[in-house]
Amino acid sequence: MKVTFLGTGTSQGIPVIGSTHPVCLSEDARDKRLRVSVLVEVDGFNIVIDCGPDFRQQMLTNPIERLDAILFTHEHSDHTAGLDDIRPYFFQQGDIPVFAHERVMESLRKRFDYIFASENKYPGAPSVRENVIQNEPFKVGKHQVIPINVMHNRVQVFGFRIHEFAYITDAKTIEEEEIEKLKGVDVLVVNALRKEPHHSHFNLEEALQFIQKIAPKKAYLTHISHVMGFHEEVQATLPENVFLAYDNLQITI
Ligand SMILES: [Zn+2]
Ligand SMILES: [Zn+2]
Repeated sequence: MKVTFLGTGTSQGIPVIGSTHPVCLSEDARDKRLRVSVLVEVDGFNIVIDCGPDFRQQMLTNPIERLDAILFTHEHSDHTAGLDDIRPYFFQQGDIPVFAHERVMESLRKRFDYIFASENKYPGAPSVRENVIQNEPFKVGKHQVIPINVMHNRVQVFGFRIHEFAYITDAKTIEEEEIEKLKGVDVLVVNALRKEPHHSHFNLEEALQFIQKIAPKKAYLTHISHVMGFHEEVQATLPENVFLAYDNLQITI
């Protein structure tokens, strides 16, 4: 299984428009972060988790010929705003399978009414195949995906475990029974917004405590704000099996 970090930034991305913060002005490529998404390639099957506003750019940088499924974590714009850009895949493949909680699907139906419309559809609009998911394992192709329920302040969010890889973003709290589902993963990705506490995201300390509890072989941090600091400086402070993810990083599991 190969995982590509398509984006590792928080909702505004880095650099933030108009910002003169030193991290926004950094020339280190690892300090430039598009909105969060990952590509999971497993047995020739291409799964993208979230489809944010940078989706087009991400697919140009990390091209795949087929898009087999999009899994949505939740409805926030930084995770969904790029759905229109599935068009090139739709033109080649037909309806693109999307997997989301009913509440998230409802939000997508409102925002992208022309994609979900069944009548009088504009010929250039893409279409999706809706797969409403609950907190139960489901299949994408022949691969089992286990949803992990997490809370983003008061918003429910799904993390996903695919074999020995787990991806959790926009988490602030997780119940014990959900943590159980993560036991034994080789690679855990988890959000860490910044060093200061935040009402709806793990900060660095909370993310590190969470990683320690799960004890994966390796962990990667994502959904990072510019105020976290320079990639190189923050990385130097982390435990030896914990890494700040960066855009276009590829890992094999
Ligand atoms: Zn987010
Ligand atoms: Zn969010």
